[in-house]
Amino acid sequence: MNYQAAPAEKSSKVCSLCHSSTILKYQAHPGYQQPTEYDIYHCEHCNTSFADPHCVDEQLYNMIYSRSLLIPSYRRYATYAQAVLQQRDPLVYLAHSEDMYWGVYQVIARNDSSTLNVLDIGSGLGYLTYALNHHGIKTRGIDISEEAVAKSQQLYGDYFICDNIYEYAQKSPEQYSLIVMCEVIEHVEDIVSFLQVADTLLAPGGSLVITTPNKSLYPASIIWHTAPPPVHLWWLSEESFTSLAENFGYAAEFIDYAVFNTAYGATNIPNHKPNVPTRSYVLDPHGDLYVQPGFKHRIKSWLKEVHIYDMLQKYKNGLLARFRSTNQQQSRRRGTLCVVLTKPIK
Ligand SMILES: [Zn+2]
Repeated sequence: MNYQAAPAEKSSKVCSLCHSSTILKYQAHPGYQQPTEYDIYHCEHCNTSFADPHCVDEQLYNMIYSRSLLIPSYRRYATYAQAVLQQRDPLVYLAHSEDMYWGVYQVIARNDSSTLNVLDIGSGLGYLTYALNHHGIKTRGIDISEEAVAKSQQLYGDYFICDNIYEYAQKSPEQYSLIVMCEVIEHVEDIVSFLQVADTLLAPGGSLVITTPNKSLYPASIIWHTAPPPVHLWWLSEESFTSLAENFGYAAEFIDYAVFNTAYGATNIPNHKPNVPTRSYVLDPHGDLYVQPGFKHRIKSWLKEVHIYDMLQKYKNGLLARFRSTNQQQSRRRGTLCVVLTKPIK
């Protein structure tokens, strides 16, 4: 591996993925909860953006989980957690419900299920771990949240471990043939050390399957079109992973979403003024949904509360996809990126 610690005095300005200098792209961008603000740095070399200050806020996560039915982007996870129990093949159901699981399914489908030994890092509510086991794949879920693991065990059975991945790696006798991380990497402070730990848990020739919001889909003038910091600390691109793979000596492959886009509609790219934030606060200072001033935003907020907004968005994106022409490269992409990083056999 090609990584050494970056000089401490420069660490906030140096890209920890490729060690190039970064630029301050935007000062005082709205954070997840009003009135927090974050600076957004950008590495032009590997097309990676990150937030400063750059640290996880545990208290904010507790607040989000206690309000997960209120926040549209989290509400769907609770829906999947129940719905998988009614499905004949929960993995196929998840693959057709959301692009990140579709990406994971493409990787699963080309392997012999009986030979796979999977670790699902950040298993959350546990439904993907359950779906993989139900599909005949030996899978263990690991999550740091005691509450999430207790709920998962209760609903799906004994497939889960509650532990910090760094500590688990030190005592785990096992190496896995596949490690899945769905929407995890953008939340962690130190991506390089996180992947170094994943590397110790991965068998030679094995793969990491990582999903995360895809910066490569959007023009450079969009500053941060993903959950505001500190919930997401990173906005990563395909180049971010090419650079990481190079330094780890891994091979990188990006899942092609053309078939998914044709079936379900492409991701909508916002109309925007260049270099003006496209995302605002999600929560107000009391932890309720933040509503931007103006009539349009009040209507939007009401639609979110009555659970119609997500449905309308999906329908709108489907319609837009039919009338919009995209170049071939873009039609393979979505707002979600799914990358397969394969460790050499040596
Ligand atoms: Zn970089």
